[in-house]
Amino acid sequence: MSQRLIYLDNNATTPCDPRVVDAMLPWFYENPGNAASRNHPFGWKAEEAVDYAREQVAQLIDVDPKEVIFTSGATESDNLALKGVYEMYARKGNHIITVKTEHKAVLDTCNRIEKMGGEVTYLDVNREGLIDLQALENAIKPTTIMVAVMWANNETGVIQPMKEIGEICAKHGVLFFSDATQAVGKIPVHPREMGVHLMAFTAHKMYGPKGVGALYVSRKNPRVKVTAQMDGGGHERGMRSGTLNVPSIVGFGKAAEIAQKEMAQDAERVAALRDRLEQGLLQLEETYVNGSREHRMPHVANISFKHVEGEGLMMTFNQEIAVSSGSACTSASLEPSYVLVALGLGDDLAHSSIRFSLGRFTTQEDVDYTIEALKKGVNHMRDLSPIWEMYKEGVDLENVKWQEH
Ligand SMILES: *Cc1c(COP(=O)(O)O)cnc(C)c1O
Repeated sequence: MSQRLIYLDNNATTPCDPRVVDAMLPWFYENPGNAASRNHPFGWKAEEAVDYAREQVAQLIDVDPKEVIFTSGATESDNLALKGVYEMYARKGNHIITVKTEHKAVLDTCNRIEKMGGEVTYLDVNREGLIDLQALENAIKPTTIMVAVMWANNETGVIQPMKEIGEICAKHGVLFFSDATQAVGKIPVHPREMGVHLMAFTAHKMYGPKGVGALYVSRKNPRVKVTAQMDGGGHERGMRSGTLNVPSIVGFGKAAEIAQKEMAQDAERVAALRDRLEQGLLQLEETYVNGSREHRMPHVANISFKHVEGEGLMMTFNQEIAVSSGSACTSASLEPSYVLVALGLGDDLAHSSIRFSLGRFTTQEDVDYTIEALKKGVNHMRDLSPIWEMYKEGVDLENVKWQEH
């Protein structure tokens, strides 16, 4: 077999679809216009291209194109939604409710808001990774302005009960914001149906280019406003100034169009591959799937191989297979993933987890190769492990008194 790299890290970023690249190319040299230049054909053409892309993106999530604000990515969209609402609705209150398993782009922004004088409640999740709806409702108070709950988790793929959360928010008259970065383009995501008023997402997690994203901001029932976080020329209806990244926006639009057409068949194919991967890996002893298997994205499997250290395991195959241990953003440190800790996993299982995220370009051959490589790697690590030996000898590892260093 030829030496090749298998890519199973699509939750970190997806390859840009070649059809998207083709759509982008004419917008670098042949059509160089600034979409805000109102007095010549270069500008008009660029503006038309942006308008068309805005329609493609809006169609994918079934909203009005005017409700789509282009940004530099989901991180910026999360910042704009949270800080923008916090500032705009300051007279109503200063309390935001979110969840411990949110992406850092949401958690760190909430942290900043606390420093600015806001109050943030961080909800727990259960072993499945799901929030408790009663706990959410109990957390709402007169000063609550917004609930921020991600659509699907980047580490586990767990999908939150969006509709029920939307109903609770509507009942109490608070805004509902969702970071839907991992869901848009892969499963049907229709914020209006779910009572979502603001929603962040990004092109590079749905086979588009990096560095472009969007924030959906509801314009009716209710009409939501956010305070701009970037001041300047007043682009994007004053909510986000800065010259639009025309080639990338065109690519984002194309990616949205392809996703809409191919989502159903892609999801079915990828889910079958994911299930095949999971079944293959679960043949190993003491191997567990993290998070709800029922409420989960079709392309993700987060698996713990007990008594095997995830980073070490990855080193046995990372010349050939790209995956993630913990979250890509935190894997530089050896802290266990805060998402898995929030699910209630002990250190042993949290440290031994690997995230496999499949995608549009994953093949059955990739999956079969990965199963074999993982079996070899896990068995190798366990053969070398005194802990595994003790476990096999029936030692009760929970109650062993380890020597302190
Ligand atoms: C990747 C990701 C982000 C960050 O998106 P960027 O476009 O890279 O800024 C935010 N939230 C979630 C859930 C993500 O998976």
